[in-house]
Amino acid sequence: MRNLNLGRVAAGLLRPYWRLALAAVALGGLGSLATVGILALIDDALKSGSSPMRALGFVLLCPFMIAAQYGSFRANSWIVQNVMADLRKSLVDDILKAPVATIERMQKHRVIVALNHDVEQLTVFVRGLPFLLVSVLTACGCVAYLFSISWRLAGVAALAGVARVLVVRRMLDSAYKIFFVEREARENLQQDFDLLVEGCKELRLNQPRRSGFRERRLRAKIDEVRDLTHDNFVQFTAIEAIESASAFIIIGALLAMQQTLGEPKETLGAFVVAMLFLREPINAIVGYIPMYGHAEASFRQIVKLREDFANTESWSSNGGNAAFSTIALVGVTYAYPGEGEQPPFTLGPIDLELRRGETLFIVGENGSGKTTLVKLLLGLYPPTTGAILVDGAPVGDADRDAYRQRFSAVFFDYCLFDDVAMEAGDADAANDYLTRMELSTKTAIVDGVFSTTALSAGQRKRLALVSAFAEGRPVLVLDEWAAEQDPTFRRAFYSEILPDLKRRGKTLICVSHDDRYFDAADRVIHIKDGKIV
Ligand code: ADP
Repeated sequence: MRNLNLGRVAAGLLRPYWRLALAAVALGGLGSLATVGILALIDDALKSGSSPMRALGFVLLCPFMIAAQYGSFRANSWIVQNVMADLRKSLVDDILKAPVATIERMQKHRVIVALNHDVEQLTVFVRGLPFLLVSVLTACGCVAYLFSISWRLAGVAALAGVARVLVVRRMLDSAYKIFFVEREARENLQQDFDLLVEGCKELRLNQPRRSGFRERRLRAKIDEVRDLTHDNFVQFTAIEAIESASAFIIIGALLAMQQTLGEPKETLGAFVVAMLFLREPINAIVGYIPMYGHAEASFRQIVKLREDFANTESWSSNGGNAAFSTIALVGVTYAYPGEGEQPPFTLGPIDLELRRGETLFIVGENGSGKTTLVKLLLGLYPPTTGAILVDGAPVGDADRDAYRQRFSAVFFDYCLFDDVAMEAGDADAANDYLTRMELSTKTAIVDGVFSTTALSAGQRKRLALVSAFAEGRPVLVLDEWAAEQDPTFRRAFYSEILPDLKRRGKTLICVSHDDRYFDAADRVIHIKDGKIV
């Protein structure tokens, strides 16, 4: 992590657009040359008066300068937007591929800040690169020109320039630290922004909590980000002001030393004009430093996130091979990572065989490991030890994603997508289930999308079952599905819906506490302290 090379990363991001980047730099360079040409014409006109040739040069150079700068900015903007989109796409892919356990552990605000703030900071840095290059080249040209005017004056100015860099470096070291603190403060603030929306009901109900949250967290953190950003801005403005003033100090010193250096007035005049011109690229280079600092802080976070998200699994390119007779868990265990002094919860070892077409109930107390077992069975958690076998063949990292494509699930903390992923499903059967769930007057499937999902909690859960059923997968997993349903619907679920799903050939796995209805199962397994009892 320490040896991150931001330059190499930026070059990698720019590589697909190198032709356009080169064009942007070339156009930027031509624009600068045109500016120099215009300056020279003005200088000549001031010295020797105007002439038709000078006027023509001026008239031609002005639109050329505008066109070159416009072209350079336009190309640059396109590159930057592409780099930003590429970065976002690759981060999104990382998140889509990341192990579920990592996503569950990862705090949402970290991901949001990375996808928004960090990607933007990195892009701002990349956007500045061609301009930085143009500024460096212009500055080199100016320095060479200064030496050509007078190596003695240029030598003195160069010595002063080195001293100036040393002073500025010291100031930069302290300014740099703020970038990392500011980045962290932004994450903390994002966390509270999430709570502001997610906790809206609780915050309305409890006045002391609301005012505590408002004063000690939200407002305090907004102020912290304000102060840090301001401090940072002020530090860099001070550095830029010193940079800017130092050019004048050097010019003043050269004027004072004119006698000693023994240079004629005209030479000194030309030297001073060129020095003033050099200020512009130097200021641009100094102005680039904060962008580099922000980008470095953001880039470290992106790299860290990528490391956390790394997964050895590969994506299946299709819906997988749905056919199976048995799925077996053999000596499977799963250990959550421990936190602090607490020993981690470990599920298993579990030996369990699921037969196609059966209805299996998993029962047990809260916290006994039912959901963990379900996530293992679904291939969402890879077993810590042991193996999952489909018709005797073990499921490895390479085919775990294909393995998962056999299942549909309504989790306890399910997420209801408004589109119906129905590639293997039957639209008539899905509509039939919408009616069975007493939802056909509330919503409809139009072009593969539910017309609305704004329903009561119990209705949404029923819609989630319709959605899972519509996917047409052979195995349906329902985690405490009936918990939100009224007694009538609960009874209908166990005595009508489950038997109907079974008749339709579904293999059913239900996590349930409803012991009155256990006879709806072909088999009931009881989990206690992470083991089948
Ligand atoms: P159940 O579904 O039977 O209520 P779970 O399978 O959700 O139980 O959880 C079993 C145990 O696993 C819990 O008692 C808890 O200690 C532990 N656990 C669950 N989720 C996590 C997690 N994300 N990180 C660490 N430990 C967890």
